[in-house]
Amino acid sequence: GTSAIKIALKALGVKPGHEVITQAFNFVATVEAIIEVGATPIICNVDDTLNMCEKDLKDKITKKTKVIIPVHMLGVSVDLTKILNIAKKNKIKVLEDNCEAVGAKYKRKYLGTLGDMGIFSFDFSKTITTGEGGAILTNNSKLDKYCREYHDHGHQNNKRYPRGRDTVGISGFNYRMTEMQAVVGKTQLTKLNYILKENKLRYQILEKSLDGVIKIRKIPKNSTSIYDTFIFTVKEKNKKKEVIEFLKKNIGTKNLHDAIKWHCAYFWKHMLTKKQIQNSIKTKNILEANIAIPILLKQSKKKYSEISKKLKKILLNNT
Ligand SMILES: *Cc1c(COP(=O)(O)O)cnc(C)c1O
Repeated sequence: GTSAIKIALKALGVKPGHEVITQAFNFVATVEAIIEVGATPIICNVDDTLNMCEKDLKDKITKKTKVIIPVHMLGVSVDLTKILNIAKKNKIKVLEDNCEAVGAKYKRKYLGTLGDMGIFSFDFSKTITTGEGGAILTNNSKLDKYCREYHDHGHQNNKRYPRGRDTVGISGFNYRMTEMQAVVGKTQLTKLNYILKENKLRYQILEKSLDGVIKIRKIPKNSTSIYDTFIFTVKEKNKKKEVIEFLKKNIGTKNLHDAIKWHCAYFWKHMLTKKQIQNSIKTKNILEANIAIPILLKQSKKKYSEISKKLKKILLNNT
């Protein structure tokens, strides 16, 4: 996924001196890839949908902005029409980071297919996996050609010649995925619909039981979620602590709150300027009020039912 972002940014012509806007609720990979191509990462806040804030995005655009990377975080799409319109108006390209929402849709279309380019990760922790690996999607043949060549030492795979005598036009690198991994990926792909269906059943158990008890992450109107994470808000400090302690003993709390430092730009002092860090405080505050329950197929529906009952008890106690 990280390599896919880098290759896509190169295909889109991102160079030193350019700015690339991405969001504060994210994974370090997008910022790493922006730095890797020599561009400047600009951090945009998320709003309470936990995805890119349209208003903040508008404020962050300058003459140097070359690409916007919205990231569909934890299974749910950003309101893409708004982002695409802002980009179009300013003649900026959109690269969808769809590592965390493989199979999710926006207006009935698969995420990763709506921007100029889209990227996926098949890392071990993602919805479908090849151990390590990723993919780039685009329907622009020029961009497609660049990506294919760049990730394979510049090989043009010219049909008229054997590989050893292949033609070359650009200096590339080696970001090839092995064919053995691709075979695993093809089989994984056939399981995607089953995974999404089972996710939803588990998610709905929590939703039914906790609706009205807590504020659950709202899924935007045009967004079809993959239901791989159940997110809810607990503002009161002691209650939050109690809920997190309970979940940690039973199922974990995924990015929020377990791995928040890897997923919020506010903590990335090793990569970002003070100004970008300061800009991300708003996102940090939103994220800190949220808790995420991972939806896992290896956990039974009965387990989610038990968790929801105990959670309800904790949440309703002395409130
Ligand atoms: C996992 C992830 C990546 C990186 O993918 P890798 O395949 O692990 O390199 C990039 N962006 C987001 C949002 C991710 O969750």
